[in-house]
Amino acid sequence: MVTRGEAETLNKSTRRVMQFSSAGFGVVLTLYSFLIFAGLAPHSQHYVGQYGAIIICLVSLLYGVIQIGHPTSTKRASNARYVYFYILLAIFLLFVSGFASPVAYLWAVVIVSSYLYFGLRGSVTCVLLLASISFIDTILSGFAPTMIAANGTTLFVICSVGATIVLAMHGARVDQREVDVSRAQAFLQQNRLTTLINNLADAIISVDTTGEITLYNAAALNLLDTNTTLENQYLDDILKITDTNKKSVSLVHELLRSTSSFSRDDLILSTAGETLRLEVVCSKIRGGYDAPLTDELGGYIIILRDITKSKSLEEERDEFISVVSHELRTPITIAEGTISNAQLMLQRGNTAPDKITEAVATAHDQVVFLARMVNDLSTLSRAERGVADTAEEIDLKEIVHDLYTEYASEAEKKDLQIDLHMPTQPGRVIASRLYLKELLQNFVTNAIKYTKKGTITLDVHRDRAGYVTIAVKDSGIGISKSDQKRIFEKFYRAEDYRTRETNGTGLGLYVAQKLAHKLGVRIELKSRLNHGSTFSITLPIIEITKSRGHKN
Ligand code: ADP
Repeated sequence: MVTRGEAETLNKSTRRVMQFSSAGFGVVLTLYSFLIFAGLAPHSQHYVGQYGAIIICLVSLLYGVIQIGHPTSTKRASNARYVYFYILLAIFLLFVSGFASPVAYLWAVVIVSSYLYFGLRGSVTCVLLLASISFIDTILSGFAPTMIAANGTTLFVICSVGATIVLAMHGARVDQREVDVSRAQAFLQQNRLTTLINNLADAIISVDTTGEITLYNAAALNLLDTNTTLENQYLDDILKITDTNKKSVSLVHELLRSTSSFSRDDLILSTAGETLRLEVVCSKIRGGYDAPLTDELGGYIIILRDITKSKSLEEERDEFISVVSHELRTPITIAEGTISNAQLMLQRGNTAPDKITEAVATAHDQVVFLARMVNDLSTLSRAERGVADTAEEIDLKEIVHDLYTEYASEAEKKDLQIDLHMPTQPGRVIASRLYLKELLQNFVTNAIKYTKKGTITLDVHRDRAGYVTIAVKDSGIGISKSDQKRIFEKFYRAEDYRTRETNGTGLGLYVAQKLAHKLGVRIELKSRLNHGSTFSITLPIIEITKSRGHKN
């Protein structure tokens, strides 16, 4: 497709040709007139005489000077000038040189330049004008047979030459236009592809068959943490990768070795301060659909994807499954062993009943432990899948009261007292009821579990900033500084022998942490070994927000 700038240049250059050719015509006409004056060339049968010829020559010379000295800028004025020029030439042919003269052959040039300036229509008009001049000349000569023959031949020759040149030029122009159109389409297509590739999240790099980078997208620069151009750089120089065994990998070498596409997800890229796990998909670019795979021209496309997150999640999940199955196996084995023992004792029939009761109690403890672990796991899975996380307006008074009544009797069984410190209006919060309840239940059960004597306090404190803190405080065994750092890890239980005296899965606080994350709160822990612990969370109160919103 010809651009606007190109079209203007074309017109300008055509106009320049026209300018100089019209000036040249003035000179040629004058020279030919001199030949006529000297009797070296024949003049027209309707010759206007020397003065007439001189006037026509002067006008045509003047026309040439004006064309060169004052070229017109508007198309309309320029068209008018060409019309004057045609008339001038027609008058010269009719009244000075005669139609069947060498000057008439200049008209072939006029046909061509008219095509250049006005297109096909211009050259056709020019031919018609020429035919009219020939016809007028023939009429003026009274249809003399010699004139008909001479004018006809001249007309035929001029038209043939002019038409041949014009048609050849027109064909070339059409071809050029088609080339321009397909070039513009290719350019558009390339732009589309570039936009598409640059907007992909995956890094894409194309290399030639020597491993030099020919193309890359914005994501590639991001991944490699660079702003400098990658073009013409050797792939292995900028992509220094290793496998999971820390052995360096040459991607170029792998590309050259492979005969088809391949992918790897065990590659590690170390950029400034970051280690990324990469998935790499490499494909050979073929020169065309029919080109063989060994085609030397194509090069390769490499797609690089950062899979650090998904890989670590996958690994974490695998580790979790293996730890869970290990943790489940122990109580199952104990329960299964004690039940078989009890069965054996019953079969023998001579075992003391208290031994059987003891075995059944042990098995029961293990089953309860298993039930607790399964319960923790299902809470964890619910939290991770986001089940029941619909936030609702919760009256804290109600939820904390329920908690108190639910656990008061359990605490009493251990001779513990639960104190409740709560203002009359603790406030309302927006949260998932289930998650908030499970989180607080976890704090309270732990407080009961890890306190031998003393008090457990449920403390609800509302501050002036519009936040409410719910704390579960105990006077229990407390947690050492080093354990405080680890108790939120899955399956972690403090080394303290007093902890080991109790049944526990080590999952409770891990689940609590996940629930807190879902609720958008942080668990605060204050604890001193042998003095007790306080677990608390802080939530924004909605009434305050509402009344503030009202004021605004
Ligand atoms: P579990 O209680 O089943 O062992 P948790 O994840 O709930 O598992 O707790 C992890 C560990 O944190 C416990 O084993 C215990 O050592 C410690 N811990 C939790 N809460 C308390 C508490 N209130 N007082 C003392 N230690 C606690």
